[in-house]
Amino acid sequence: MILIDGKKAAAELREKLKHEVTQLKAKYNKVPGLTVILIGDLTPSQIYVRNKEKSANEVGLKSEVIKYPDEVEEKTVLEKIEELNKDETVSGILVQLPLPKHIDKQKVIETILPSKDVDGFHPMNVGNLSSGYESSVPCTPLGCYLLIKKVEHNLNGKKAVIVGRSNLNGKPMTQLLLKENCTVTITHSKTKDLKAECLEADIIVAAVGIPELVKGDWVKKGTIVIDVGINKTDKGIVGDVDFNEVSKNAKALTPVPGGVGPMTIACLLKNTIECFKRSQI
Ligand code: NAD
Repeated sequence: MILIDGKKAAAELREKLKHEVTQLKAKYNKVPGLTVILIGDLTPSQIYVRNKEKSANEVGLKSEVIKYPDEVEEKTVLEKIEELNKDETVSGILVQLPLPKHIDKQKVIETILPSKDVDGFHPMNVGNLSSGYESSVPCTPLGCYLLIKKVEHNLNGKKAVIVGRSNLNGKPMTQLLLKENCTVTITHSKTKDLKAECLEADIIVAAVGIPELVKGDWVKKGTIVIDVGINKTDKGIVGDVDFNEVSKNAKALTPVPGGVGPMTIACLLKNTIECFKRSQI
């Protein structure tokens, strides 16, 4: 079984991006800039943002974090986004989710210019992705896609089963694999026989949030299994896939932690650089 090493893949991607930033700096005499807005003091969000800033600095991006307290008014945040939209030194804007209840998430997402939307959540990017046009792609599914391609370059005709239909993971994952000519089935909480669906798959991507949902006997021999889940349990952090059991049948499998997680941040940096490059044309 191939253990898909997301840490190593992310380090390789960051190295490549660092090189690209050096070349862009030589060509344009400026570097891509990423601005993250962090609202409130949720510990996981603070950790994510710290890691994003550290990785951005490591590849040579200009990075900035703007912090607001929990009770900040929605208007203040929207005005800041408008200001960043106009700022030529800012290539990418990310507002760390989740947001406090009094702030309308969709309004925030739609205020970010699609060309600076490094999370790929703006309806324009969602539409472009599903129409097969150039767009920012949400970072986690993009990371999953790059990991799958490392194991198998030609995905033509493969049967992919996506478990979970969130806008963040399942839906964009479907679009990415459709573009690669996979036959994609998207499953969710109302799917009648999830095991039977998974048993058909050459590729499974699990993004559900239920610890070890995908069992060993749900996976036929030779399947590539990507585990997006991050679940806190008494045993520590586990994914949505029963790692020990599934590793007996899978051709390749991502561990949790150390699989998809590290690729998510590396893909955020990649998206920032892509936004910068598109803005220079
Ligand atoms: P979500 O809650 O938005 O969506 C979960 C999806 O799972 C829904 O579409 C739902 O229909 C489906 N679902 C629920 N119960 C199901 C069941 N019994 N069978 C089949 N489908 C079922 O979750 P999300 O934001 O997509 O996150 C999913 C998981 O991925 C979480 O554990 C989250 O922490 C993790 N995550 C990891 C990363 C990363 O970087 N590795 C990034 C984002 C999310």
